[in-house]
Amino acid sequence: MSAHRLVPFVLLLSAALTACMHAPVRNPLATWVPSSNFDARRPSLVVVHYTEQDSIAQSLDTLRTRNSGGRVSSHYLIGADGRIYQLVADTERAWHAGAGRWGTIADVNSASIGIELDNDGATSFAEPQVASLLVLLDDLTRRYRIPRTHIIGHSDMAPGRKSDPGVLFPWQRLAKAGFGTWPIDGSPPAPAGFDALRALGTLGYALDDPAAAIRAYRMRYRGDMADVLDLEDARILYSLTTLPAASTADITAD
Ligand SMILES: [Zn+2]
Repeated sequence: MSAHRLVPFVLLLSAALTACMHAPVRNPLATWVPSSNFDARRPSLVVVHYTEQDSIAQSLDTLRTRNSGGRVSSHYLIGADGRIYQLVADTERAWHAGAGRWGTIADVNSASIGIELDNDGATSFAEPQVASLLVLLDDLTRRYRIPRTHIIGHSDMAPGRKSDPGVLFPWQRLAKAGFGTWPIDGSPPAPAGFDALRALGTLGYALDDPAAAIRAYRMRYRGDMADVLDLEDARILYSLTTLPAASTADITAD
């Protein structure tokens, strides 16, 4: 088939596959005996990003088309003025996370809500933007019963590959509002023999590349990008991994 005859065929095939992806799926291996006792699957994690773009208009365009790596999207985009845009329904799988994992979650896009913040990565996050993020996090964690500790940065799940939302993101402020995790002020030093690297894994970081995981952790909790753990890190990680996850207490099962 010549190249120009192949193009319409490929387009047709890709249109057909796209249609299939959205069609109701009934497995031909099984007899369909429908039950009405179900609802939509719920996300269990929120991933925060910065857009690293120059304007909200550019971000809205990219998140509805593609960037240099391919087609991308997120569920939400928050402007510096605090306006919240939604691009993908909460129950659908947006394409914001890419390769990586967090704890036992290997397909982060399937499990998460992605929130992009209009920010170039070098500027402080605007106050109205952070205020809107807190309102949105409160809404999402309540409606989907996402544990309030389950708020991570893109860099947490893709260490070495991604660095957003970056060193300027106000994780401590989020923690004060009850989101994400932060060590307790003045918590005791870690006991002798405490394995700080292992604690990073307990938090959720993938340890395939330990130096990259440490850099991602340091960026979030200490605002630098060192790749070795010191005694202060041991104290922080001991605090983060040995205190009860208070946020799970208000999560109730159906
Ligand atoms: Zn990102």
